[in-house]
Amino acid sequence: MITAAEPKILRLTHSMMACFQACPRKCLLRYGCRLRRDRESMPLAWGKAFHAGLDAMKRGETNPADAALAAWDESRIEVEDNLTQRTGLYVMAQMYAWRYGSDAIAYDASEYEFSILFKRMAGVTLAGKIDGTATLPDGRKAIVEHKTCGVDLGSDSDYWQRLRIDSQINMYYLAAQRAGTNAATVLYDVTRKPTIRIKQTETPDDYAKRLSEDVQANPDKYFVRREITRLAGDMDEFVEQLAQVVKMYRLCARWKQWPQNTSSCVGMFGRCEFFDLCTTGAIPEPGGAPDGYRIAEKLHEELLL
Ligand code: SF4
Repeated sequence: MITAAEPKILRLTHSMMACFQACPRKCLLRYGCRLRRDRESMPLAWGKAFHAGLDAMKRGETNPADAALAAWDESRIEVEDNLTQRTGLYVMAQMYAWRYGSDAIAYDASEYEFSILFKRMAGVTLAGKIDGTATLPDGRKAIVEHKTCGVDLGSDSDYWQRLRIDSQINMYYLAAQRAGTNAATVLYDVTRKPTIRIKQTETPDDYAKRLSEDVQANPDKYFVRREITRLAGDMDEFVEQLAQVVKMYRLCARWKQWPQNTSSCVGMFGRCEFFDLCTTGAIPEPGGAPDGYRIAEKLHEELLL
């Protein structure tokens, strides 16, 4: 049986909560045993590199593409470098600056980390990192969340409808309320990854030119910003749901039972990172990492604090 010590203070991020809800066994392996894959998946590496470009832009750099590419080249990518992905990243970061470089949004903070007591339950803190806070052109304060995706961003798409109940947005609202930022809204800033791929007959420069032209001809297909708001009642319901998730987590920890949810093994981003372990019955030694994995130095590596 795989086991892990239950922490005295549960430090819960949205990622950890979502992981537990997707599959308790995955939560045990990822957060109890702190196992991580040696190499990142392609979508994760692409999104992180694109974020690095946006951060450079917020610091005043006019071409975020260089910073995005530098981050991509430093990433531990799961598969061999893919020319389409790398060229596409560079072009999309350039095009982001073309689309939004002269917008009137004033960024107050970038990569804002929070850690707050969950007042509803003892022994629980909520932690996370908000991409940014900003003042909008009309003077309102906003939480800014940057996302990359590979799906349709049309105004009546499922992508936007799901955000009406998105728990990550709820958690960020809660943190912003407690920090006293008076955020009136969440500005959800989404970039769709390239929908056209490099042709066998094309050079990377040919592909970059064709992709740039496609983006400039269809900017609303690739770049969409929308405001997402929450009412007090939405937040009350979220707090109750969060309390239920914490209770279920603590039951798993107390009983040392972390059931598998095999419906989560293969999804739209491919296989679960622990697919090979679960399907072969390989049980990690306490404190040891199986081949292809490492032990994370801390529970939430994405957080500095
Ligand atoms: S492979 Fe499936 S059962 Fe195993 S941790 Fe991942 S989602 Fe859960």
